[in-house]
Amino acid sequence: MIQTKQRDVILAVLREAGRPLTREEILAEGRLKLPRLGSATVDRTIRELGDNFRLIGVHFPGQPRRYELPAESEHPHFICRVCERVYDLPISMRLPQIRAPKGFHISGGEVIYSGTCPDCEGKVRKG
Ligand SMILES: [Zn+2]
Repeated sequence: MIQTKQRDVILAVLREAGRPLTREEILAEGRLKLPRLGSATVDRTIRELGDNFRLIGVHFPGQPRRYELPAESEHPHFICRVCERVYDLPISMRLPQIRAPKGFHISGGEVIYSGTCPDCEGKVRKG
């Protein structure tokens, strides 16, 4: 049974970040709020929240799995090619409907844009 306090901290971290976070990012941010937050607790909490659909896993090829809170609407993600952080783009969009080729069962899809995030764009501009 996971302690409410720890679960609340993890949910708060994700809410405040406003972008999908890796477990390491969740752990680091969580420890700022709750210094004794343990690595195993974070893993267990992520799993439990996922099972209850209070947390969504975001997984892009070649990237560590990240987690975010369920969004109100479908939205594209953005990956920064400099810092590799993943952002939610606050744009509502629908995935195009496609007809699955024979033998394929499609259970989900993602739209991912890439480029430079505002933080890195500033650094690039300043040189
Ligand atoms: Zn960046």
